[in-house]
Amino acid sequence: MNILRIVKEDESPVIKKLEAAAKPNLSKPCEKKFTEEELKARLTPTQFRVTQEKGTEKAYSGKYINKKEEGIFQCIVCGNHIFDSDHKFASGCGWPSFSDVENLDKVKLVRDTSHGLNRLEVSCAKCGAHLGHVFDDGPKPSGIRYCVNSASLDFRKHTTV
Ligand SMILES: [Zn+2]
Repeated sequence: MNILRIVKEDESPVIKKLEAAAKPNLSKPCEKKFTEEELKARLTPTQFRVTQEKGTEKAYSGKYINKKEEGIFQCIVCGNHIFDSDHKFASGCGWPSFSDVENLDKVKLVRDTSHGLNRLEVSCAKCGAHLGHVFDDGPKPSGIRYCVNSASLDFRKHTTV
């Protein structure tokens, strides 16, 4: 199972390079803060658990796994435009997968050693919402797979001007 794959820091140059490139984002404070009450009222229990408690939705349970429409994927908590449908691909892993972010400034990448694993966590740079994890088995040229919970995302169709 992909989610249990251990990404060892020293063995994944792709992940190390990405982690280093995103490092400046870590020192930036989150611009948007929400109270627990507000979020509990606005989000579903799954959305709250995933984004605020670093939860993971059940594999193949998310609503955006097979989404193929063109549009953008925003942070469900603050509306930050994080992923674009252009980078979405069918990974078969059970969660929506993206080969790149809209802009690296939009996310924070943090080492996550919970559950006895060494993974790189991806969260929203604007509000700190947990999105998912990053792996090095994505399609070329990036080789990166952002494995993201549908519960963290809000899809918006491209609007024609
Ligand atoms: Zn956010």
